[in-house]
Amino acid sequence: MPLYEYSCQKCSQKIELLIRGDEKPECPHCQSTKLTKLLSVVSGHVSNGGGDSGAAGGCGRPQCGMGGCAGLG
Ligand SMILES: [Zn+2]
Repeated sequence: MPLYEYSCQKCSQKIELLIRGDEKPECPHCQSTKLTKLLSVVSGHVSNGGGDSGAAGGCGRPQCGMGGCAGLG
């Protein structure tokens, strides 16, 4: 079922609505139709978080820091 999340521009309420076909979303609080559609939160894509062993940044040694040991062999 298509469940969409909206933020009402009038009363700033965050609401979830089921929209089918050409139904117009309406705020259940103030009946305003000026709603901002919120994007669904998609989790699971973290690129620059660090925590990987080995890969980018350094060798993992304490003295390495941000790849400082790269030239030391
Ligand atoms: Zn509202």
